[in-house]
Amino acid sequence: AIRATDLVKSYIAGVRALDRVSLEVSSGEVLVVMGPSGSGKSTLIRTFNGLERLDGGALDVLGVRLDSTHADPQVRAIRRRVGMVFQQFNLFPHLSILENISLAPVKVQKRPKAEVEQRALELLEQMGIQEQAEKYPAQLSGGQQQRVAIARALALDPEVMLFDEPTSALDPERVKEVLDAMRQLARGGMTMVVVTHEIGFAREVADRVMFMDQGQVVETSDPVTFFSGAREERSRRFLSQMV
Ligand code: ATP
Ligand code: MG
Repeated sequence: AIRATDLVKSYIAGVRALDRVSLEVSSGEVLVVMGPSGSGKSTLIRTFNGLERLDGGALDVLGVRLDSTHADPQVRAIRRRVGMVFQQFNLFPHLSILENISLAPVKVQKRPKAEVEQRALELLEQMGIQEQAEKYPAQLSGGQQQRVAIARALALDPEVMLFDEPTSALDPERVKEVLDAMRQLARGGMTMVVVTHEIGFAREVADRVMFMDQGQVVETSDPVTFFSGAREERSRRFLSQMV
C-alpha cells in the first residue's frame, strides 16, 4: 500500500529530519513506529499524506507517486484516500459530534446528507459512543473526543489510516478505550501506520515495529523479536528507558 524509497526531508538546510528512509507497508498491515523525540516519526507519516513536501526520494502511496515536485493533483488524490488522526483531536468546537463527522463527506465528497449521517452513526457505534451524537466536543472526555476524530477520518472511507501519538494527550484511564477502537480497526483489515509509545498495543496489534533515530530507520522487526531483544544497540537503549 505504501512504498517509500530514500526519503529525505530537511526543514533547516543541512539538518535532515528524514535521512534516506525506505520502508514498505503492505495492504492490511499494521506498522508501529517508535523512536525518541525528534527522530522524525511525525515528519515521516506526514509525508505519507502529503502534509510535508519531500526534499528527496519518492513515495508510492496506493499507486500514487509523491516526490519533491509535490504536484497538487497527486497530493489531493492521496489525501482523499489516507486518513489521519493526531495527538490533538482538532474537532470543530461549534459543531455537534454528528456534524463534525458528516461535514467533509457532505461538503467535500458531495455525498447525500442522510446517507452520510447514517454512516456516521454506525461509526460512532463502532467506536462505542453512539449516545454522544448530538453533543458538542467540549461535553466529551478526551478519550471520547479522540474516538470521534477516528470516526471522522473513517467517514471518508480511507484505505490507509495514519495515527500520530493518538493517546499521548489522554488521561491514563482513557488510553485503553482509544487503543481498543484502533485494535478493532486493525482486526477489520485496515492498513495502519501508528506512531505510539504504547508497548502493549505494539506487541499485540503490530505486524512489524520500526525503530527510528536521528531521521533514520535503525531496525524493523516483528514485535516479539523487537521487544524481547532488539538487534540494535540504539533500540535497546531506547527500550530500556521506557516504563
Ligand atoms: P516527537 O516524539 O517529539 O513527536 P518526532 O519523532 O515526531 O518527535 P519530528 O517532529 O518528525 O520528530 O521532528 C524531526 C526533526 O525535525 C526534529 O529535529 C524537529 O526539531 C524538526 N522539525 C519538525 N518539524 C519542524 C518544522 N516545522 N520546522 C523546523 N524543524 C522541524
Ligand atoms: Mg512527533
